[in-house]
Amino acid sequence: MNHSPRAGDEAPDPAGSPASRPEGALGRWLTGPRFGALPAPAALPAPALSFEFFPPKTDALEAQLWTCVRRLEPLAPRFVSVTYGAGGTTQARTHATVSRLATETSLTPAAHLTCVGATRDEVDEVARGYWEAGVRHIVALRGDAPAGGDYQPHPGGYDYAADLVEGLLRVAPFEISVAAYPEIHPTATSADHDLDNLRRKLDAGATRAITQYFFEGETFLRFIDRAAAKGITVPIVPGILPVSNFAQVSKFSAMCGTTVPAWMAKLFEGLDHDPDTRRMVAATVAAEQVRLLQANGVDEFHFYTLNRPDLTYAIAHLLGARPVSPTAPAAPSGPVEEARADKAADTVAAG
Ligand SMILES: Cc1cc2nc3c(=O)[nH]c(=O)nc-3n(C[C@H](O)[C@H](O)[C@H](O)COP(=O)(O)OP(=O)(O)OC[C@H]3O[C@@H](n4cnc5c(N)ncnc54)[C@H](O)[C@@H]3O)c2cc1C
Repeated sequence: MNHSPRAGDEAPDPAGSPASRPEGALGRWLTGPRFGALPAPAALPAPALSFEFFPPKTDALEAQLWTCVRRLEPLAPRFVSVTYGAGGTTQARTHATVSRLATETSLTPAAHLTCVGATRDEVDEVARGYWEAGVRHIVALRGDAPAGGDYQPHPGGYDYAADLVEGLLRVAPFEISVAAYPEIHPTATSADHDLDNLRRKLDAGATRAITQYFFEGETFLRFIDRAAAKGITVPIVPGILPVSNFAQVSKFSAMCGTTVPAWMAKLFEGLDHDPDTRRMVAATVAAEQVRLLQANGVDEFHFYTLNRPDLTYAIAHLLGARPVSPTAPAAPSGPVEEARADKAADTVAAG
């Protein structure tokens, strides 16, 4: 059958002829601009996931972390990473958490390591300890000055993350991830300069970039286009921060250079003292963000969990992630644990 159009053949107008076209709400619905539907998750492969935790300071936070780990473990993330406190202040706790993840769970841990406040020998020693404990993946970072203020390289230390990547690979053949900034690192002189820096870290041997969190999907999509134009071909994994405490995240975002869009402030308006509603709004905001990225071809996500599992679990579920052992899913932690976690996280900064 020939379907080529002929003169006089016109596609039927779904809204009817102008004379019969309905007006008002139905008219707007039939003729107005629409958003294209996001692809059904069933049409897409489940994404690769990674989860970030921070090392706990107290027994209560320790219990919260392990509840979180056990809840997320069945999603079989590619790796889970543990942060390193500013200036190496959590060195022992980071090491203990990473070692326990390596020995007591089915997860593949990655240890964050920074240049701040330590000589090269000291950093190398920590890295060697990880290698000997069976840890094969390091997230290599410069870090920030512990008391805020300008960063100063430690005399005799690694100056910047690119130097650290080189040094780590002299210690052992680690898999190395580094940080990337869709909205530019706060001290970078230009977007171009920032991408050159990312390039240096990859040329030094890193094989993955994980981004600072951002809220506009477009910001990330533009960034990966700019990176591709620079010839960067390694995976750039979006860092997703499910926002359950908007006031805290706004404050932290101002320091790390992440834009908090006005629409987001509007969505969280009036919810400072309503954690239950805030959590539902947070899930919706993050779900829209990740599904938009997924619809645009992003198939790997890194979640800043803040040691709270349920938002991350729900968002991963919406992306198509399912427990690898459906017969034994971990129990949800429930609103009581989540509320407790909310309170604890008030004292903790992301990243
Ligand atoms: C995924 C992720 C995880 C993080 N985890 C942690 C963590 O566990 N602990 C922690 O303390 N912080 C963490 N951070 C925060 C990070 O330490 C800060 O953002 C820090 O300010 C920069 O680290 P970097 O590795 O990106 O630095 P770098 O890549 O070294 O760059 C930092 C700045 O220095 C500039 N620069 C680089 N080389 C030179 C040079 N040779 N001369 C002059 N300027 C130069 C760069 O252009 C850039 O502006 C994390 C950030 C991200 C995105």
